[in-house]
Amino acid sequence: MSNLMNTYMQLPVTFVKGDGMWLWDEHGKRYLDALAGVAVCGLGHCHPKLVKAISEQAGMLIHTSNLYHIDKQEKLASRLAALSTMDKAFFCNSGAEANEAAIKLARLYGHNKNIDLPTIIVMERSFHGRTMATLTASGNRKVQAGFEPLLTGFTRVPYNDATAIEKIASHNKNIVAILVESYQGEGGVNLPQANYLQDLRYLCDKNNWLLMLDEVQCGIGRSGKWFAFQHSAITPDVMTLAKGLGSGFPIGACLAKGKAAEVFKPGNHASTFGGNPLACAAALTTLNVIEEEDLMRNATDVGNFIRSEFRAQLDNVTGVTQIRGQGLMIGIELSRPCGELVREALIHGLLINVTSDKVIRLLPSLIIQRDEATQIVSVVSTLIKKFLEI
Ligand SMILES: *Cc1c(COP(=O)(O)O)cnc(C)c1O
Repeated sequence: MSNLMNTYMQLPVTFVKGDGMWLWDEHGKRYLDALAGVAVCGLGHCHPKLVKAISEQAGMLIHTSNLYHIDKQEKLASRLAALSTMDKAFFCNSGAEANEAAIKLARLYGHNKNIDLPTIIVMERSFHGRTMATLTASGNRKVQAGFEPLLTGFTRVPYNDATAIEKIASHNKNIVAILVESYQGEGGVNLPQANYLQDLRYLCDKNNWLLMLDEVQCGIGRSGKWFAFQHSAITPDVMTLAKGLGSGFPIGACLAKGKAAEVFKPGNHASTFGGNPLACAAALTTLNVIEEEDLMRNATDVGNFIRSEFRAQLDNVTGVTQIRGQGLMIGIELSRPCGELVREALIHGLLINVTSDKVIRLLPSLIIQRDEATQIVSVVSTLIKKFLEI
């Protein structure tokens, strides 16, 4: 019997080694990884430059405390600011923590404007994490059920519906911010419609709200640009990052711009581990390698290739509702729940994911090459066709 709390429905496999796009289990069987630890291992498994940077930093200095200056944290903040045109960063250890920071920032921003019950607009089908504030913000009853009372101070609208927000603006004077994933991940790989993010930017400007983008999943090169919002010619006031930032080493960040960057004062927020030298070394190296190896262009090219290959294989297959995504965030929606495909794929030596019940989700590393992409398309298409025939 396991001494682990029963929080995960784990698949019957134990990986012991990784290299690039590949993983090996304890029996020596090899698996092609089209999930990358759920959008985490952007550089693939055990990238030599990442291994070297982490090893060297570990031998030099692992942790001090945010009571002291941390050189690599300053460098990482400055690097992220330059890449995103945001001004300031707060470092933490996960996506949920990054969003907690954003939520606290928005509430404080509201109180500073004498709004006593600051309220954040959040989306249906969103996912922001598993802490009390972030599960309240998430638009998925499954992550909330059993954990009531939820927090107050959130109001929900459909994703891709700016008109719904305009209606709220006209009567709710407590709104302080919109929190939205630039691209929804867990909700089924849902992309913003043309002008949606621009409309949100306009509404935030008009009403003095903060536009807060959760790029925990879609950020750090996965969309083909550093940040998914950069496809939309806007900038947010707040942006959260985590998953791909350390390529497997835990680190999260809440970035802020302009007036939002001035909200937190000493004592308002903190983290013991956040942004320690080791985590920052991992993140700086991740950003360097993405640049050096031109991985965003690769994400665009191979992502487009994967989607067009899937269309060629599946376009006329009844039961395939839509093939969508951008860069290396790929969703294939079927007409019925298909969670069992994950186990089928595993048997065939392939790691995939199904989210939102009927969306097959692929989030491979940014280093993926065409031959690996071809293998993924071939196995997944075959499994889908077989599944839909039954
Ligand atoms: C995974 C995810 C989170 C939560 O991140 P954790 O590191 O698991 O806390 C938040 N937002 C989005 C969009 C995510 O995909």
